[in-house]
Amino acid sequence: MNSENVPMSRDSILSASEALSLLERPETPNPAARNPRFASRIAESKAAAVEAGDQEEAKRFWIAEAISHSQLIFENAFELMKEHRFYDAWCKLEECEITIASLERHFAVRPPDRHRIGYIRDMVERWQSLYPYKIFFSPEILKQRVECSICDTKVSLRNPCGHEKGQIYDGEQCYHIVTKCEFLSISAVENPVQKYSVGFLASENGSGPRDHYDYAHPRFAIDRLASPYHGWYTEDQTRTIQQSSLSHHPPSARCPCGSGNEFGCCCKSKPEVVVPHLQFIFSVPPPPELPQEQINI
Ligand SMILES: [Zn+2]
Ligand SMILES: [Zn+2]
Repeated sequence: MNSENVPMSRDSILSASEALSLLERPETPNPAARNPRFASRIAESKAAAVEAGDQEEAKRFWIAEAISHSQLIFENAFELMKEHRFYDAWCKLEECEITIASLERHFAVRPPDRHRIGYIRDMVERWQSLYPYKIFFSPEILKQRVECSICDTKVSLRNPCGHEKGQIYDGEQCYHIVTKCEFLSISAVENPVQKYSVGFLASENGSGPRDHYDYAHPRFAIDRLASPYHGWYTEDQTRTIQQSSLSHHPPSARCPCGSGNEFGCCCKSKPEVVVPHLQFIFSVPPPPELPQEQINI
């Protein structure tokens, strides 16, 4: 008999502590976080806690679900980057950032970081910092009707429903859903509320957006990593290059030294040019079959 078809028995009910301990140390392949059966066991165990009126235990199950979700989205973002689907991975990184921010309201992320949530939070930010995106679109909307996710009633500042946004009720987090709104404007910004609204150019044949970005930095890192749980960081350094290697750098282009001036008026007459260099340091050296060479940016 296929174990997936076994009817749910009381044996399948977990305690929240058991669920949380199964999610520890995700750097070893973690069947708990990947197995759909595990998710349904948590959901059924949470329902049993709610039925028994144990709000604290139900909340701990919500925490276990949020931890599992954070790990999975982070691993998913890593896999997308491995396929060089950088914009898709960017959206997953943002989803991971949001999930961890709401988890942290109810769960203290601190050493020894057994579920690696602190690690994931820091690495999400590090990956995001490697992306070339600078301009985002931010819509301004007028919220006309907002509903509570717990009780479905219309809420406003004057008429609160009694549920507090971000709190956990019966193992579910309360959030507000905008069900009716008026679109006011859209503006280009550098620090958007929602990071997925990246500005893309239109393709020449008019068939939609075209990804014109240069992903050299995230590509360099992802090509050398074997696991999302192998840490890395970067250091801003400089390196010296010979003038001869810049022979095809146009004099009217910006100088590679980073001064912002034209190359012809800046370093073109020097025998050597000092250029900014981003050095990657990997906690686990790239496996021999992965590219080893350094990058010059
Ligand atoms: Zn409510
Ligand atoms: Zn220069």
